[in-house]
Order: sequence, then C-alpha cells, then structure tokens
Amino acid sequence: MVRVRFAPSPTGSLHIGGARTALFNFVFARKMGGQFILRLDDTDRERSLEEHEKGIYEGLRWLGMDWDEGPEAGGPYGPYRQSERMEQHLAAAEKLKQSGGAYVDDEGVLRLRYPKTEVIVDDIVNGECVFKTDALGPEPVLLRSNGTPTYHLASVADDVDMKITHIIRGADHLTNTAKHKLIFEALGAPVPRFAHLPLILGPDGAKLSKRNSECLTSVGEFQASGFLPQALNNFLMLLGWSHPESKEQLSMEDSIESFDLERVGNTAAVFDNNKLNFLNSWWIRHLPVAEAASALEPFTGQFREQIEARGHDFWLEAVDKLRDGCANLRDAEGLAKLLVGDGVEVGSDVRDALASDSEFRAHCRAVAPSWSDRLEETELDADRDTLSPEQAKQLTNAVKKETGLKGKELFKPLRAAVTGSLSGPDLSALLSLTRFTELRRRAKQFVEAAALEN
Ligand code: GLU
Repeated sequence: MVRVRFAPSPTGSLHIGGARTALFNFVFARKMGGQFILRLDDTDRERSLEEHEKGIYEGLRWLGMDWDEGPEAGGPYGPYRQSERMEQHLAAAEKLKQSGGAYVDDEGVLRLRYPKTEVIVDDIVNGECVFKTDALGPEPVLLRSNGTPTYHLASVADDVDMKITHIIRGADHLTNTAKHKLIFEALGAPVPRFAHLPLILGPDGAKLSKRNSECLTSVGEFQASGFLPQALNNFLMLLGWSHPESKEQLSMEDSIESFDLERVGNTAAVFDNNKLNFLNSWWIRHLPVAEAASALEPFTGQFREQIEARGHDFWLEAVDKLRDGCANLRDAEGLAKLLVGDGVEVGSDVRDALASDSEFRAHCRAVAPSWSDRLEETELDADRDTLSPEQAKQLTNAVKKETGLKGKELFKPLRAAVTGSLSGPDLSALLSLTRFTELRRRAKQFVEAAALEN
C-alpha cells in the first residue's frame, strides 16, 4: 500500500511550492489507490501558528485535495502534529544511541554517526545521486543539548512510524535525504522511495521566494486575485510534470488518471504568468456553468447585491452567455457593471474614436438617436423588465433600416450606446439581459456624447 505525506511547517501561509508538493503527493496517492497523509512539522513552537495551520487546510481543500489521515482527521498512526510526538522521537533517539548509529558529543548533543564515506540516493526523478559524507557537513544533530529533537530526527522517526513508502518533496531537500537515508538505515527501518521535485523558478529566473515581485506566491493570494482552483491546480501540475499526450488542460481527474512519477522532469520549472492566465480563462469558459457562476459571483464587488437581487437564473444565464468576456474572476465586476450598473461612462476608446474618426462619429450620430427613439417607442411585455431576444432583434433591425448602416458600421456605435465601450461580450445577450430602463438611460447618454462638438 502506497503511503505518502505532505509535511508542511505551519510557520507561514501555504506557498505555491508547498501546494505543488502536496498536489503531486495527493495525485500519486490517488492514482496508486494509496493513502495521503497530512503531517504538521510544527516543532518550531514559536513560529508555528494555529492561523497558518488553518490556512494550510483551507488552501489544500480549496485546491480540491483531501487527506486520509491528519491532525484533525486522526488516523491509526497519530498524532499527526510533530510537536505531539516527542515521546516517539526520544524513543528513536534512544534506539540510535543503543545501536551506535548516533553518539553524544562533547557539547552534549546527540549526533548521527556517518558509518560510511558515501551515500547513494536512488531518486525516482533525479536518478542515482551520490553524496560523499565529508561534503555533507558535520554529522547532523539529532537531539539538541536541551533534549529537543531536530527536523532530521523527527522527520525520519515520523516517516518510519507512519509507514511512509514514498517521500515526494522539493529538490532543496536532496542533501537532507542523504542524511535521512542513513538515519532510516541506522533505525533498521525500510528506506522509502524518494522523488525530489524540480525547483520552481520565478519569471525572472531566480528561485521563487515569497519576496518575488513578479508573481504571487501564496495560495490565498491566488484565490483573492481571481484565479480558479482548477486553473491553479492545472498550472501546478505542469510545474515539473507533463501529460503523456502533452495535454495541457487537465482536471484533477485527468491528472490522477495519467500521473506517473517517472514523467516528473529534473530541470527547474519556470513560473509562467501567461500560462497561468491562459489556463484561468480557459477554465472560466469550460467549467459547468453553475460552477462558473458561483465562482464569479463573489467577484462582482460593489454590484453583488444588485446581481443577487436579479435572481439566480438571471446570473446563470448571464454567465452562460457572457463568461467569454472574463479572463479572470475579477472581470466579473466589469461584467456586472454592464448588466446592472446605473449608466455607463463613455469609455476613452469610444471618446478617442469619436474625436479622431469622422466616419465613426457620423455613424454614431445616426445610430444613437435612432436607437434611443426606438427604445422610447417600445413597450415591454407586462411580465418583463428586459427586452425579449425577439424584441432586441426587431429594434436593431429597425435602426439598421432607418440608418442604412449594417455590419460593423451599425454594431460598433450600437455597442457603444449599450456599453460605453468598443469591445466587450456578446451584444445580443447584453440587450436582453440589461434592464430596459437602463438601456434607455444609456442610449440617451450616448446621444449626447456623440453629438458633442469635436
Ligand atoms: N517541514 C519540511 C518542509 O516544509 C518537510 C520536508 C519534508 O520532509 O517533506 O520543508
């Protein structure tokens, strides 16, 4: 039975490097029908905070992961907070001391004894990695002079007790692994398989750090910045792994189905903002509409109440027809503004075009009054406060007839009269989703804007 663990230290928010490690562990466990364990490496009592612990749970869940054993879930090999496992760590230390695998030095600290001059780590991703022990630095401390266990001891003791079969973590741990392998051996425990995931570099090519200014780094920041979990997940999966058929749009199910540690590359993965943005807009367009609608709604900002007041079906229909205009969830605010905003400013693109393009100006001066008049003449069906799609069509046809304009010459001014902008989502959908009174108001505003002397 495959058993893997994600072992974050709750000393900060969940970082995308950690999220990628968690995800590869999770996907591997699910693929193999194994178990995914969450363990908190919280031995740094001062920096480990409950709020970070909660943040890690939330981040993992938001990304779509669940775990079989963990601090709150419990499980047969608990406790799953390292700080609660002191007894087990001390027992391992005792065992190492007894067997001669570790010794107490002059300063009273327990150190691992290097029994050989070379350690070979056979890594699934990086192949055979040979470490000379004299290049690994002094023999690592296992128990400090105050008797507390170090990361090396606690981590290995827990991995043994928790029957971890595969250790999947960042490449920055490779040299630790050389030491850990010796500890596993000295404890007489089976050595797990190792897979060290390639480093993630920032867009500037430097190692990704929390201070990288060119991209976001914490999962919570991505969430707040309008990224779908499906998109971030998809993006993280491709940081170091590729689908066997080079598929780029991957759901969690796709990733689980086709994941293979052998396909994890060993060259650093570069964080590509464009790719993440592309995946985000792809997922906004391809999610089931109800899911997209509920993901977009919280991002409607100051229009949220008005959107809610129009009812759920309205929002579903709007998202169904207009989500193409959202590349990021935060674009929902602009969309909501188009749908329910009181009046729209005539945008600078339209004003510039009115000023510089005499043909466009002439077309606007023809279309705007015609459109406004048609709206004034129109009466809605008693049970509606928006145009029906048929009415919208009739009205635009009437404007077409009256002005003799068609195609772009008709629709550019018309779009400007409805949205205040030259580009945006599907106009015919907007015409039957925007309140009629609002269409009238905007039309009048645009008549004035188009008539202004240039
Ligand atoms: N707490 C360590 C970290 O966050 C765990 C490393 C590991 O053993 O997986 O880097």
